[in-house]
Amino acid sequence: MAGHPTSAYNAAVDEFRHREFPMLRGESFPIPPLPKAPSKRCVTVLNKQADSVYLDHAGSTVCAKSLMDSFAAELSSVLYGNPHSASWPSQLSTTRIEDIRLRLLGFFKADPAEYDLVFVANATAGVKLVVEAMRSLPHGYVYAHHQACHTSLVGAREDALHAACLDDDGVQSWIQGQDPFHDVAAESTALFSFSAQSHMNGRRYPLSWAKRLKDQAATGSRQLYTLLDAASLSATSQLDLGAPELAADFIVLSLYKIFGFPDVGALIVRRSAEAVFDHRRYFGGGTVDMVVCVKEQWHARKAQFLHERLEDGTLPFHNIMAVDAAMTVHKKLFGSMDRVSAHTRFLASKLYKGLRSLQHGNGVPVCALYTDCPDALESPPTGPIVSFNLVNSDGGWVSLAEFDKLAILKGMHVRTGGLCSPGSIATSLGLEPWEMRRNLSAGFRCGTDNDIMAGKPTGVIRASLGAMSTISDVEKFLGFMTEFFVEQSAPIPATVSPQRPAKHAAPLRVKAITVYPIKSCAGFNVAVGTRWEVRPEGLAWDREWCLVHRGSGQALNQKRYPKMALLRPYLDFHRGLLRVEHQEPGQKEAYRFVEIPLSAKPDLFDKRSHQTSSRVCGEEISAQSYSSSEINDFFADALGVPCVLARFPAGGRGLSSRTTKARMQKYQRPCKTRQPLPGAFPDIPSPPDSDSEQQQLGRILLANESPMLLVHSSSVVALNQEIERRGGEAVSDATFRPNVVIESLPDQPGEPAYSEDSWDGVRIGDQDFKFLGACRRCHMVCVDQVTAERRQEPFSTLAKTRRFDGKVYFGSHMRHEKAKGHGVASQLPMIMVGDSVSVYDEGFP
Ligand SMILES: *Cc1c(COP(=O)(O)O)cnc(C)c1O
Repeated sequence: MAGHPTSAYNAAVDEFRHREFPMLRGESFPIPPLPKAPSKRCVTVLNKQADSVYLDHAGSTVCAKSLMDSFAAELSSVLYGNPHSASWPSQLSTTRIEDIRLRLLGFFKADPAEYDLVFVANATAGVKLVVEAMRSLPHGYVYAHHQACHTSLVGAREDALHAACLDDDGVQSWIQGQDPFHDVAAESTALFSFSAQSHMNGRRYPLSWAKRLKDQAATGSRQLYTLLDAASLSATSQLDLGAPELAADFIVLSLYKIFGFPDVGALIVRRSAEAVFDHRRYFGGGTVDMVVCVKEQWHARKAQFLHERLEDGTLPFHNIMAVDAAMTVHKKLFGSMDRVSAHTRFLASKLYKGLRSLQHGNGVPVCALYTDCPDALESPPTGPIVSFNLVNSDGGWVSLAEFDKLAILKGMHVRTGGLCSPGSIATSLGLEPWEMRRNLSAGFRCGTDNDIMAGKPTGVIRASLGAMSTISDVEKFLGFMTEFFVEQSAPIPATVSPQRPAKHAAPLRVKAITVYPIKSCAGFNVAVGTRWEVRPEGLAWDREWCLVHRGSGQALNQKRYPKMALLRPYLDFHRGLLRVEHQEPGQKEAYRFVEIPLSAKPDLFDKRSHQTSSRVCGEEISAQSYSSSEINDFFADALGVPCVLARFPAGGRGLSSRTTKARMQKYQRPCKTRQPLPGAFPDIPSPPDSDSEQQQLGRILLANESPMLLVHSSSVVALNQEIERRGGEAVSDATFRPNVVIESLPDQPGEPAYSEDSWDGVRIGDQDFKFLGACRRCHMVCVDQVTAERRQEPFSTLAKTRRFDGKVYFGSHMRHEKAKGHGVASQLPMIMVGDSVSVYDEGFP
């Protein structure tokens, strides 16, 4: 680990002291001395898993054991009461809160004669208090915010008479006298908000803006207030309010970002600006000396301190006690914020340089960075936040959703997406408002998977370092990036099978047929010798039921609730029952079962459930929930989730799709031109229950259809060889939750692994199935279908060997093609284990 040579470092410090770094004091940016051993963690961490790396919100939500111990010791020996009464515990709370308020002001070097500190739920609540006051001003307010502001500050514009979003130049012009509101009446007060440090890319903004704008406003007639968002800056740097005449009027921050715990925010108000709150109308319990409401209506507000007037209702007094413990422990562990700052800057620049140096085999850089180098030696200081997007070796963007799947699997906790930073995201990514509107209408939402739209990413990956981050976090993260996102050679070409006659009798047969009566629960294997009906909506009894969360109405899936794999359904046609068994692995005594009639008698269902629609993979469905508490409790107990069993209405999906989307993947498409189907088609249904991502929807299936998933066992064998070669454990066919598994006949050459990627369809027995595209995979394949435990395989190896266009595929979707004519094959289509399989390479009939 190379530190800075001390003399060069000091020289750089000197140089910076002489340049204008308009931090709070308006003179110099305090560059702290390099810590001796910045990489060593001297802290016992409680809630972090051994192998995981936490790089979200400055790493500070990772809990220090000493903080939790000291707080636990306090709470188990001292009784604190609600602060507003005369009892001893209550009085104790009151005095302690006042002491802590003072100590916290001291933490920010703020003189209590100059500032008051109001406890709020979070930084956003602090902003809302200011907005509420501004809105109540007799002539209202005009609002300008810097473009790097957090969403919570952008929202303040909605109550303003006029609002403007300013870039750096806009702020400079204002400082030089160009009021952005020059045509708005001067009685309305102005509020200007800006971020001390962008939480999106760590860029810092001059704290001197507050004073310079105020000085400028003093020359005109409009009153101006400034609001500084210090939430990101204060997490890893000393927020220094030592010079009140230079400070913003209102400063908001979130204490958990500094200390990890507790979750409280603070609004710090310069006393000189307190008058803004005089017009606030609402009053809450604890903020008044007297209230009269019978016959007359008046009240007397508390007058001495601003915080007394603004802290409505019961303060989160236990949380505030924890702030005291947090400050003590923070000091003990880290010494000062300056040390935290030096430590995190060191780590951030290591991370930054590591990411910057990653290259594909062909020399294309892997990361497009949106952060300036956080190393003070190279550029003005940037906060310890590194944001970037990933680029593949062809120069295309890697989808954030795909990055997320791997990051989650590998325990890399970073933030991806829009980061509540609309201005910085739009400028960094070059997104115009019309593009964002188009993306919105095209189905993009914050947090969904359609993250590359019209060739541009819609979000970023952000890794932020904090007091609790270590050098090994950075190294592990860089190792992860190298392992999964650096392409050494050209991307794996899609397997294209050699030209052959349109249909050939491949020596293949059906190895297994599986249906999943309850969506996302275990499969039911069709017995050898049993012919199974293929219905227009899929295999008979496949995904006939689902489990629905009582609160949200969402259909449960295995990705979130892996234990669903332990719910094993059996279709008992003799008794007309679906029997569902449940047993936790290794707990024989815990074996339980429930039996559900196969017939959909109306009296089984909750009458009200007609009105309540549920959602499967984001799509509305109208399944009917069961009313029996015996049935519902069985599932709720097994999963530890409040849920009910629901059944899909008979006769196919209609609008109520039980599954979602599948489409021909791009890498497969160029091989052939596909016949579009006539008529109007609904959005495409799904890979059984694999992903919940909303893909670009193809138009392949008819309204009441749902695709089946076929897995070729040669591909499973090939994948397992790869997994074992990399030291992992082989997985079973069931891992992929297929409906049909096909295999080569014994002692025959068979079809090569992954040749199914380019098939046009298959004939199974006397039934034809058209291929719809490969199945896109997520880390749900990592749930061991026997133990319900999550592992890293097979997704880890799939991501390295089966990633196309950033997405991971395994298995194929197919649709049954109804046979022509009136024979048995068309009236009652059936398939069975052992049926021979032939392949359509081209020109599906
Ligand atoms: C986190 C953050 C916020 C929001 O803070 P909350 O406590 O979630 O309200 C606002 N601005 C910045 C710069 C932040 O980093």
